[in-house]
Amino acid sequence: MSDRLSVTVDGTAVEVPPGSTVLQAARAAGHPVPVLCFDDRLTPFGACRVCLVGVEGRDGGMDVIASCTTPARDGMVVHTREDRARRVAAAVVELVLSELPTPPAPHTELAAVAREFDLEPGALRWTGEQRAVRHDTRHPYLALQHELCISCGRCVRACDEIQGTFALTAVGRGFHAGIAAGIDEGFRDSACVSCGACADTCPTDAITELSLLDLATERAQAAAPNGAPA
Ligand code: SF4
Repeated sequence: MSDRLSVTVDGTAVEVPPGSTVLQAARAAGHPVPVLCFDDRLTPFGACRVCLVGVEGRDGGMDVIASCTTPARDGMVVHTREDRARRVAAAVVELVLSELPTPPAPHTELAAVAREFDLEPGALRWTGEQRAVRHDTRHPYLALQHELCISCGRCVRACDEIQGTFALTAVGRGFHAGIAAGIDEGFRDSACVSCGACADTCPTDAITELSLLDLATERAQAAAPNGAPA
């Protein structure tokens, strides 16, 4: 008996070790799947549903599953471009974008994922409620822009799993969900040790290292007429 699992992804046969996820099999086959709440360094969360793919069922039907948390099975046949999976994932990304008061910066993972689904953030307009602009800039090295938080949980898991500091907490529900440092006393007064793991994993720049934020602000001001604040 082979100690490898045979999986077919978009017609490409690939062998992966037992315990692999469907996402890992897709990547091994050279057919990457868009992700948002997933980071290779962190325990998969399965929250955002952007990594949905189709899997042929034993009854001949097609199941739609989250590839980042679903274990690969021997003989599995995966379709990363399955229509229902793509439509639901695209709707999720559009919903996330619609809550932001400004489009995500082009270099962010969210902007890249949006482009993957042909959603050009700067060209889309929504009329519903959007997140209120609220910044915490009291930390000497990090800035938190609450309105850009999409509740992917990556920063919380990075702080817990990479740094082991547990300085961040998911708070709120629904439209008002987000993160807080400590018991919402702000970054500066929390247990944060300034490792930067949260900023490094953030897919929207909701948490940024201040040096980068300052640079972006300087550039925006330089580009504005008469050097006015952007
Ligand atoms: S910079 Fe602070 S809040 Fe962010 S992961 Fe490191 S310890 Fe946690």
